Amino acid sequence: MIFCVEDERNIRELIVYTLESSGFQARGLEDGKALKEALTQEKPELILLDIMLPGEDGMQLLAQVKANKETKDVPVIMVTAKGAEYDKVLGLDSGADDYITKPFGMMEFIARVKALLRRKKPADNTHTYEMGLLAVHVEEHLVTVGEEQVVLTYKEFELLRYLLENRGIVLSRDRLLEHIWGYDFDGETRTVDVHVRTLRQKLGPCGEYIETVRGVGYRIGGNR
Ligand code: CA
Repeated sequence: MIFCVEDERNIRELIVYTLESSGFQARGLEDGKALKEALTQEKPELILLDIMLPGEDGMQLLAQVKANKETKDVPVIMVTAKGAEYDKVLGLDSGADDYITKPFGMMEFIARVKALLRRKKPADNTHTYEMGLLAVHVEEHLVTVGEEQVVLTYKEFELLRYLLENRGIVLSRDRLLEHIWGYDFDGETRTVDVHVRTLRQKLGPCGEYIETVRGVGYRIGGNR
């Protein structure tokens, strides 16, 4: 379900219609009051939020959505008019996930919605990765090599899981650092090397599955 908060009826109906034509379920809401009421009824997968609204404006509503622990993980696309309003939004670290400027083409609009939903898709927690003797049960946070259980730290586990998620793909140290440690991490790419080394040791005979790609980063399952 996608919520579309827009006070201009024609635009609201057009957006809802466009989303529904693309296979989404959508609900048009005319202002912040309607949004808040709708949020008590169901949790949307995405909110499209117009900035200029009667009553509380889109920026205030965004702040409330992001401050509420029930809704803070719902992605929000801000819909802005061109000009000063748009600049204002861009200048703020508002917590919005994307911005789109009116008037926009419907094709582009749908593409942006799909891209955001793809990006925000929760990680698959029910999966088991298997490669040779190695088995990683994501949900149980359990790693086995043959019959032996391997105890990994949280970071080591996430590192292994991310490599397996991207099996066959070379991941740069920067990308690993960003994904496992986060943007804010104040460390060096050497951190990645250190963790890969201990991960390899712990995995014993399966350690060699993690391949060093010189000058780039690491890969698992490059030729398997
Ligand atoms: Ca408006």
